[in-house]
Amino acid sequence: MNPPKVILITSGPTREFIDPIRFISNPSTGKIGYELAREARLRNYQVILISGPTGLNPPKNVRFIPVTDASQMRKMVKKMFRYADCLIMAAAVSDFRPARYNPRKIKARRNLNLKLLRNPDILKEVSIAKGRRILVGFALESGNLLRNAKLKLKNKKLDFIVANRLARGGIPFGDSRTSYLIIDKTKKVKRLKNSSKRQLAKAIFDKIGNLCNP
Ligand code: C5P
Repeated sequence: MNPPKVILITSGPTREFIDPIRFISNPSTGKIGYELAREARLRNYQVILISGPTGLNPPKNVRFIPVTDASQMRKMVKKMFRYADCLIMAAAVSDFRPARYNPRKIKARRNLNLKLLRNPDILKEVSIAKGRRILVGFALESGNLLRNAKLKLKNKKLDFIVANRLARGGIPFGDSRTSYLIIDKTKKVKRLKNSSKRQLAKAIFDKIGNLCNP
């Protein structure tokens, strides 16, 4: 595998609006994607960072593309994929979106039934055109961590996947330290115990380096 030059990173949550002031989303802070972008710049890669809404400042010398919802993220990932040698899909893309967007604020007079549609799987869609690119995904699981992560690895044609467990009562977003598994195509598993997001970002780029210089 040739060493990558351009790394495309996605980060943050997406917001799926119900009306102009309400949305469904998740608690992703975007921290891991921004740490990845920072680490990639330190290693002299060119970086394109596509991010959903976060309170973070993008690192310097990164091409930054802000997006709001999954449909915009999908459009920008597809547009930028052709320039990238490696995609790290760290965004917590909302799996669902409201079936209907109300252009006016919905009156809160009574209960509201929301119909949600499945959002397209961005990583799976672009993996069809993988070519020689390195693809990295994430998996947050509440059970069967290894089994589910391996399925996603195969299904999304990933070179490796970063998996972590959704512990009961713990939210693995933000600054908290978490244990991760890095599982590659050959089913090799590396365990990172009690790791910060910065340590994880370093481990991910070490792994990318190892793929290119085995
Ligand atoms: O299947 P699951 O959502 O757990 O897969 C997680 C991986 O897939 C992450 O890398 C995430 O960024 C990506 N994903 C995506 N499009 C979606 C949902 C998840 O690219 N709609």
